[in-house]
Amino acid sequence: RSFAEMGLPREILLGVSELGYAAPTPIQAKVIPLALERKDLCASAPTGSGKTAAFGIPLLANGSGVVLEPTRELASQCVEMLRKIGECSKSTTFCLVVGGSDLRAQEAQLRRRPDIVVGTPGRLLDVATNTHGVVLEGMLVLDEADRLLELGFEDQVRDLIGFVKRSQTLLFSATFGPRVEALASLSLRKPVVRVK
Ligand code: AMP
Repeated sequence: RSFAEMGLPREILLGVSELGYAAPTPIQAKVIPLALERKDLCASAPTGSGKTAAFGIPLLANGSGVVLEPTRELASQCVEMLRKIGECSKSTTFCLVVGGSDLRAQEAQLRRRPDIVVGTPGRLLDVATNTHGVVLEGMLVLDEADRLLELGFEDQVRDLIGFVKRSQTLLFSATFGPRVEALASLSLRKPVVRVK
């Protein structure tokens, strides 16, 4: 199926074509239609498979959500890609919440209620608990779940799963060991679709 046949908003189709994506990658072809149907899903997807756009496109179509990334670099790359895909739908606002940059500035940004928040778990949990009354909501994406766990973010990820008022959850991981499976059962609601 082409991007045009997926029933995506026109602005997103424009963004995708400006990025030069002629056709969906296999993971995008599977994930995007299911995510647009509001399914909870877990997908086995390594870096380089096009997974960022696989969750980024439905996330932008949905209009609000939270993405958890294991590292600052991945989080900022993710926001950059979302901005590019969302280039033509200018109204969407983003916020990057990662360690190493000013905490108060990030709290101020979150209080402005951005549509899409991308962050690393430790800092996002700090900022979210400090900004009382700010609700994180929409689609929750756990990206690189195996690395989130390897880097010791299990407790923060669990807390954030409880914190985010999520309409839908997407979990991506290169590997699926017992700890990733446990995180999947904690975060995904039935019926869960598995994508390989
Ligand atoms: P990712 O797996 O998300 O890190 O993406 C790997 C690379 O593939 C990035 O440079 C993307 O810009 C590129 N990419 C993602 N989707 C497509 C597509 N449908 N067609 C061509 N390139 C793509």
